[in-house]
Amino acid sequence: MTDRIFNFSAGPAVLPEPVLRKAQEAIWNVAGSGIGIMEHSHRGKVFDKILVEAEASCRALADIPDDYAVLFLQGGASLQFSMVPMNFLPPDRTADYLNTGVWSQKAIKEAKLLGRTVHVACSSEATNFDRIPKPDEIAYSSAPAYAHLTTNNTIYGTQWKTEPAVPAGVALIADTSSDMYSRPIDVRKYAMIYAGAQKNLGPSGTVLVIIRKDLAETGPKTLPTMLQYRTFVAERSLYNTPPTLGIYLVGEVFKWIQSQGGLAAMAEHNASKAKALYDYIDASDFFRGTVQPDSRSLMNVCFRAPTEELEAKFITEATKRGLDGLKGHRSVGGMRASIYNACPRAAVEALVAFMKEFELANRSASAARV
Ligand SMILES: *Cc1c(COP(=O)(O)O)cnc(C)c1O
Repeated sequence: MTDRIFNFSAGPAVLPEPVLRKAQEAIWNVAGSGIGIMEHSHRGKVFDKILVEAEASCRALADIPDDYAVLFLQGGASLQFSMVPMNFLPPDRTADYLNTGVWSQKAIKEAKLLGRTVHVACSSEATNFDRIPKPDEIAYSSAPAYAHLTTNNTIYGTQWKTEPAVPAGVALIADTSSDMYSRPIDVRKYAMIYAGAQKNLGPSGTVLVIIRKDLAETGPKTLPTMLQYRTFVAERSLYNTPPTLGIYLVGEVFKWIQSQGGLAAMAEHNASKAKALYDYIDASDFFRGTVQPDSRSLMNVCFRAPTEELEAKFITEATKRGLDGLKGHRSVGGMRASIYNACPRAAVEALVAFMKEFELANRSASAARV
């Protein structure tokens, strides 16, 4: 295909080609109904089937138990930063946050804005979040209302390899926006999981929330209706008009993941893509990774070149070659290749080939560094 380029954007990000092709048709006429997906009532049979199937595929992928609700909400992952403490952090309690970067900090900020008490259980801020804290660095408060985790740190390229231990009975709540369904996930370890769709699951405007139903019931009933989880549990995400197109697309992405062999196959595919990049970075004395090796993300690969001038040149030349979205976040600098589920192996191979070529052509310019 010549009219598409390789997209390494951190988000919104690349979506699977078969999903986009099918969606093109569904926008015109979905399921032979003679009406496009965006034009169907959310109360009608056609959309209801789409919603039921999206939820069923989501459940099947991670074997989600019946005592959890699967919700499709709006407001981005960022609204969850507020809804979580509004619902689950009473004024006389403390919530523990594991601070691994900007998204964790934004979650902390929203809890504090509500006047709630936050305890930072661990932080890698001292080294600009270049690593995931070690188990013995985590110090929880005595009886936290919940512990909050960011599973993958999109900006820095770090990722928790497994869930940190939490004290018995403490609800673990995770922002999985940038690695949801990139690998198997044991939902039972969490009280709640949320993910903005636009990194790994679909378009922006839809947020996947997986929440234990008994937890959803504990929020104050005095909150605005739209900010209570129980509203959406009771109404199957249909209290108000849900993001219908987004739910259709997320459902199709779930089906695509199933067709690829499910989460274990995704994990294998993602690990092999990331390995190709990290192996090259490690072998190179021109490029260097910015993250401590045991904390490396399989989703966002951050790396630098010897000088900022060479980095600017790399990004410009890469874009000309049809390798887009490689500029790193301003708080890290350098380059970031986001290689989510839908990023094909060929994209990573093209990037590694370009890196080799660039290194060879520019090595002398960097000799001063060594
Ligand atoms: C992108 C991102 C967010 C923000 O998501 P919005 O949907 O824009 O609110 C939050 N957390 C993580 C880990 C992210 O990668």
